[in-house]
Amino acid sequence: MGITNVFDLLTTYPRRYVDRTKRVDLSDLTVGEEVAIFAEVATVSTRRTRQGRSLVEIIVRDDGGSLKVVFFNQPWRARQLVVGTQALFFATVAEYRGQRQMTNPVVDVLIGANGQERDPARVGRVVPIYPASGKAGLTSWDLGGFIEESLERAGEFFDPLSESVRSSLALIDRTAAFRSVHLPEQWGDQDSARRRLVFDEFLRLQVLLVLRRRRLEETSAGVSHPARASDLDVQRGAASELTHSLVESYLRENHFTLTGAQRRVITEIFGDLANVLPMHRLLQGDVGSGKTTVALCAMLAVNEGGRQAALMAPTEVLAEQHLSALRRDVAHLTVSDERVLGATRPLRVELLSGRLRAKAREEVLAALHSGAVDIVVGTHALLTNDVRFSALGLVVIDEQHRFGVEQRAMLRDKGREHSNEGADPDLLVMTATPIPRTAAMVIFGDLDLSVLDEMPVGRQPITTKWLANDPTEAWSLIRDVVAGGHQAFVVCPLVDESERIQATSAVAEAERLRLTHLAGLRVGLLHGQMRGEEKDAVMDQFRSGDIDVLVATVVIEVGVDVPNATVMVIEDAWRFGLAQLHQLRGRVGRGGGESFCFLLGDAPTSDAERRLSAIEASTDGFALAEVDLELRGEGTILGARQRGRSDLRLASLRRDAELLDAARIVASQMVHESELTEEFVDELRLFIDEEEAGFLFKS
Ligand code: ADP
Ligand code: MG
Repeated sequence: MGITNVFDLLTTYPRRYVDRTKRVDLSDLTVGEEVAIFAEVATVSTRRTRQGRSLVEIIVRDDGGSLKVVFFNQPWRARQLVVGTQALFFATVAEYRGQRQMTNPVVDVLIGANGQERDPARVGRVVPIYPASGKAGLTSWDLGGFIEESLERAGEFFDPLSESVRSSLALIDRTAAFRSVHLPEQWGDQDSARRRLVFDEFLRLQVLLVLRRRRLEETSAGVSHPARASDLDVQRGAASELTHSLVESYLRENHFTLTGAQRRVITEIFGDLANVLPMHRLLQGDVGSGKTTVALCAMLAVNEGGRQAALMAPTEVLAEQHLSALRRDVAHLTVSDERVLGATRPLRVELLSGRLRAKAREEVLAALHSGAVDIVVGTHALLTNDVRFSALGLVVIDEQHRFGVEQRAMLRDKGREHSNEGADPDLLVMTATPIPRTAAMVIFGDLDLSVLDEMPVGRQPITTKWLANDPTEAWSLIRDVVAGGHQAFVVCPLVDESERIQATSAVAEAERLRLTHLAGLRVGLLHGQMRGEEKDAVMDQFRSGDIDVLVATVVIEVGVDVPNATVMVIEDAWRFGLAQLHQLRGRVGRGGGESFCFLLGDAPTSDAERRLSAIEASTDGFALAEVDLELRGEGTILGARQRGRSDLRLASLRRDAELLDAARIVASQMVHESELTEEFVDELRLFIDEEEAGFLFKS
């Protein structure tokens, strides 16, 4: 069962508890429900089925009625379950010929026919039911026995929490918690036990994250960037002063005013940049909230100090788009550079992509190395071995929520290694897939968190409609908006993980639409199998309005910014996850006018139906993230952490948010006041590998 030590055993928690004193009305059980009942055997009979299998049929009863229980191929049950035996029966209630029954349940005999309790000390009022393992040949009863013995041998538990912390949080001590979770004396004991054990799970996790953060700070060699929040006060279009920073110049010429949220977040970031300690910050902001602008201000502040910034995008299409947007936004900016005549030159933005020809690539590499490039845009391949910076001051990772602790650590080391200056770059991680605050605390707990919770003015409302099997409205609306000078996206079904098969289906769909519903419109095609230049050409045509409708695979999922597009059609929408649907929809409503999103296709499962209804009902990414957490469960979201030993066995991010907050506070206190005892450090070591332990606990 994956249990290798006593700790594993003691943290194998009961799946549920049965209150022996509370009788279930046996005549009232619901078919299909998985239940544990405690009942007495009333009759037993054995016979053979027509196929020759042995069949033991018993009737069990309690005060409330009776139930038939059958066992196939377990003839010994007739000897085990003689009349008068009292036992727990655990199975799904089924219906057979109009009667409810249990088939082959898990059985725990608690009281023998002679009234003899099997083990009086172990049969309390509340009986824990453990996850039994048929494979390992272990019943719930067996496990309970091992656990009880371990508890006895363990005696008093070490408790990392002081009496005063415990009482201020109303937590019971560890010894009591381990005892009550396994052997509750009365109903309700298991709840206070669970509370304490959940707290401990969060505490371990948060101590490790806070400690990691602390160590990063201690071992860092950062620099202070000339970032001043007062630069944000510049008026748009204000007359030029003699001396002004890059940030001021950019904002003065910019075509929009920062939102309040952007100002707040940039101020937070500038505080980090001005500090010698490298920034480790996560920026969460819904689709279209203006994260790129925030990133640009940060990059310019770094350029101001003569250092370079790198912007990493998840795809080449996005990297290209960032490049052209950035070049447009900084076209008028100049930086000082002692090496050139006049000591100033235009700020230079370059793209480093897999598509560059060898010669062009070499040229960019040389310019990065000499410091002649100020901002470089690329995909993850940006920090490969042949890339050297003169002085890399900031790394921005866009749209990358799958970045775990390990990758961030690698990035930091690479950043230092690849820069002649040898300093740690500041790090800004941006994600457009909001995750609930609790999940962020667990996944990104070693990062500071900023949230852009305000949309720029001019955001257009998006009407979302799930059309199921009648897409007529979608096609006719597309014709209308195109007639009005606007554009539309059609996202093809995600038929397969294979890019090739997806591409084939997109090609076919584009062809079908050209010949039928969208005949006469200029229909373009974009999919992952096209070559880089082909993709660029299509995107350019779409941006410049030479294509009316872009039929695409999910390659357009993230970041694509074409404000004139106002309709998004998503085919077979049920195949997409909630976050993905939200991302896709975010491609419209970007300023071009009232926008629409149509979801096509049925929902074959109830989860799919809830996803589509949720998208139809809300455009708030954070609200949708909560629904997503509920639907997908925490495991999937937390999977991003990539840890070995499962460290959240009891805790639930939804139910236990309050304990998570408390654990975070206690963890910070423990780390900053050096209250980590040796025993607790030993406990923490169970959850990390050697290398991590070496880093965290070396002193
Ligand atoms: P995202 O957070 O999705 O990356 P972007 O940074 O791409 O959002 O911004 C989306 C669009 O909104 C861009 O066209 C950008 O120029 C525009 N934008 C950003 N900030 C503002 C603002 N304060 N006012 C108006 N438009 C803005
Ligand atoms: Mg973006």
